[in-house]
Amino acid sequence: MSSKTVYFQGVSEGNQEHFLERTLLVNYLTINEYLFTNDLKKADVVICDTCLFYYEDSIKTIDYLNNNRNSNALFIVTGVLSSRKGLIKDREGIIFLLNEELDHLDSILGVTHPFNTINQPFVNQFGLYSIYIAKGCYQDCTFCVDKYGFGQLRSLDPDDIIALFKRGLEDKHERFSFVAQNTAIYGWDIGTNLAALLNRILKISGNYRIGLDCMNPEFLSYADELRPILKSGKIDSMRISLITVTDRLIKLVGKDFKMQDFMSFLSWMERYCSTTKITLILIIGYPGESFNDFKIMLEFILRHSRAHVTFTTYEYKDIYFAESYHLKDKLDKAHIKIRSMLVDIILKITKKYRMQSGKATLIKKRLSKIISESSSYDEIAQGLLHVSKQLDPPDEVLTVLSYKTLYMIEVGGRLSSEVL
Ligand code: SF4
Repeated sequence: MSSKTVYFQGVSEGNQEHFLERTLLVNYLTINEYLFTNDLKKADVVICDTCLFYYEDSIKTIDYLNNNRNSNALFIVTGVLSSRKGLIKDREGIIFLLNEELDHLDSILGVTHPFNTINQPFVNQFGLYSIYIAKGCYQDCTFCVDKYGFGQLRSLDPDDIIALFKRGLEDKHERFSFVAQNTAIYGWDIGTNLAALLNRILKISGNYRIGLDCMNPEFLSYADELRPILKSGKIDSMRISLITVTDRLIKLVGKDFKMQDFMSFLSWMERYCSTTKITLILIIGYPGESFNDFKIMLEFILRHSRAHVTFTTYEYKDIYFAESYHLKDKLDKAHIKIRSMLVDIILKITKKYRMQSGKATLIKKRLSKIISESSSYDEIAQGLLHVSKQLDPPDEVLTVLSYKTLYMIEVGGRLSSEVL
């Protein structure tokens, strides 16, 4: 057995694709008989997997590892920060590799099992069997920094995916997840698409359910092919990066779809596929998001939030390396924060009343009226407080939230005089 040791440090937990990419790297090192160590000084190889989104933390980690490693150790920096070597240019002796260049490790480390032969899949502690169906992306989302590290779209051959899937079934797995940087564009580089792949998979009999992670709305371009697949009941969940909900902002985000088409698809899903869990990802406070856009987002959340449609929201983070950094009409942090707090309250309310359809409809109606008639943050917050007092019996969630609401009335009143 090789006596080589490796110290591996990842910066930030990252999302599902980052996690899979990191797991692939760890598997590669393990298969090539590297031993993982916590002793930085004794490691023969030090690997730091970085993230451009958290580039300051990435640089700090690189400096710490570089200053404390054995000077004879190989120091390899992987991940998206490698696309911006200029940020770390004064450090000597570091090998930088983008995610799409990880196969260069074969010659750097002189290993016997090449990177590209490392078999998936990945099984987590809950038994979820994930298959990484494609790497890279050729979309151009303006907030994205991953595209600088993951390279062009490289879809896995459908036969290989099917072989991995069958292996999972043989191992008695029932919950599968298909993951990519952008699962919706799987196959576009090899003359196929996700619907064609799923049609082949669904011909395989078995008691399984599949989750589709990192779906972007590009799937709308072949929605008609997807509908029968979704109706089969085999698709357990879809996690969709919607990001925003008005056509003007969709353009600024760099995506190419019409909100009306997405809404029709969502209504169809709600009607025919009510067991498929949908998670919609939104970014709050995108550059150019007007107060009116924000109200449309709140109403969209109110209208669609239900047992099988949930939302994950993020506050917009301005990253120098993202194209969105150069967009006009950026909101300052105070506005983003107050918008995020209002979204949070609406989400908590919709979550609480999700199962009580009669009451939920009434509250949603009242809130929707408040939102549409408000012209400032504090008016929305006042309305929330008003609804909480009108409820019989008084609503404990809204009462607790009213502390936040009062803050919003005060701060929101000031900020509202400067809304876009
Ligand atoms: S779909 Fe957009 S956010 Fe996702 S990897 Fe591609 S460019 Fe980045």
